[in-house]
Amino acid sequence: MDFSEPSEAVQITKALDDFIEREVAPLEDAHPEFLGEDYQRHIVDEDGYQVPAYREIVETIRERSAEAGFYGMGMPEEVGGGGLSVLTNAVVVEHLADRPPGFHGAITGGAGGPTPVLLACDEDQRERYLDPLMAGEVTTCFALTEPDHGSDPHYMDATAERDGDEWVIDANKYWITNGPYADFAMVFARTAGEKGDYEGITCFLVDSEDYEVAKVHRTMGLTPGGQCELRFDGVRVDEGQVLGEVDRGFQTAMNWIGGGRINIAANAVGNAQFLLDLAVEYARERETFGKPIGHRQGVSFQLADLATDAETTRQLYRYAAWKIDEGERARKEESMAKLRGAQLNNRAADVAMQVYGGAGFMKDQPIERQYRTARVLRIFEGTDEIQKRTIARELI
Ligand SMILES: Cc1cc2nc3c(=O)[nH]c(=O)nc-3n(C[C@H](O)[C@H](O)[C@H](O)COP(=O)(O)OP(=O)(O)OC[C@H]3O[C@@H](n4cnc5c(N)ncnc54)[C@H](O)[C@@H]3O)c2cc1C
Repeated sequence: MDFSEPSEAVQITKALDDFIEREVAPLEDAHPEFLGEDYQRHIVDEDGYQVPAYREIVETIRERSAEAGFYGMGMPEEVGGGGLSVLTNAVVVEHLADRPPGFHGAITGGAGGPTPVLLACDEDQRERYLDPLMAGEVTTCFALTEPDHGSDPHYMDATAERDGDEWVIDANKYWITNGPYADFAMVFARTAGEKGDYEGITCFLVDSEDYEVAKVHRTMGLTPGGQCELRFDGVRVDEGQVLGEVDRGFQTAMNWIGGGRINIAANAVGNAQFLLDLAVEYARERETFGKPIGHRQGVSFQLADLATDAETTRQLYRYAAWKIDEGERARKEESMAKLRGAQLNNRAADVAMQVYGGAGFMKDQPIERQYRTARVLRIFEGTDEIQKRTIARELI
């Protein structure tokens, strides 16, 4: 049993730190308005879209990251990725999260960037969609959720019907991350079978000029302007835009969702570590009744519990990642890691705010933003309850 950090991860995180200092930090320093206490007001326009100056920074970092080889690190080398193992990739994700809010999400692309779902691309699709995505020239979005179906997407209302050589898609997709800016969408629609069947759902690659961004949603925490409603009203696509097999799009997507859950857990551990470090530092400095608050068990025990939970969750996501890398089934462990990671990040934000007292509540501290942003981790990519459902189904 080897608990040491993979040496590849150590090298990459060091190279990433250099990249951030050289390429990202100067952009952050030049635009404090996008990171300061009024960041929400500066990032979006009156319609809720991210303003051009903000988009430009994101795109610049994305392109520089692709040039430097960090974009698509977790994708296989055959498609121009870094070929990192699931474990190494997750350790890198944790490292990127363990820092103050900034533009680090653009380095890996997040929900708009390269995704293993697109490994189902054929040769033509690879040239048209995957290669430009890997080069950081375009972005995508994953359009599965609908107004009436989130935890049960296989009950979806979206349909696609064959008409000669074409497919006609009718769909309304909700809360789609990067939807407002994506160049193409991976959209899921029923092509056969009944509501609730896992079979009979097909994934289509649809160019952004063919669908409508109906509304940009306003969210709690996160970067504003990131989620939207997409409408596909009788959108026509050709056979060459079917990703993978007809009727098996849901399975194609679900095969890769585990890695995504591990990355969410890793990100949550990184955020939690950042919050823990802040709280520890504050507990050393802040004095009440003539002593640092960290000398009181009421405070130090909160930190001890949090540190223990962070370490437990770190080992859990790494174990899940290791299992996948070993070719083993890890459905249960992926869900355990996502569940505990999301809860940990929320607890860490709560503990940090408590230790900071009133100072934590103020917008000039990163804790307030982390507190709001952490909450969504318990909802997207499968809620806490859906993770428990998955774990229970593996047990019983
Ligand atoms: C910020 C954000 C970004 C998102 N990005 C995307 C995206 O890019 N693409 C995309 O397709 N979707 C996206 N989503 C949608 C997300 O995946 C769904 O919100 C999530 O799956 C939950 O679905 P729901 O919100 O419809 O909740 P519901 O399914 O309506 O659930 C409501 C509540 O009931 C509980 N519940 C439901 N079923 C069960 C059950 N069987 N047992 C116990 N409890 C249950 C849930 O846990 C939850 O607490 C995003 C959501 C958010 C908030």
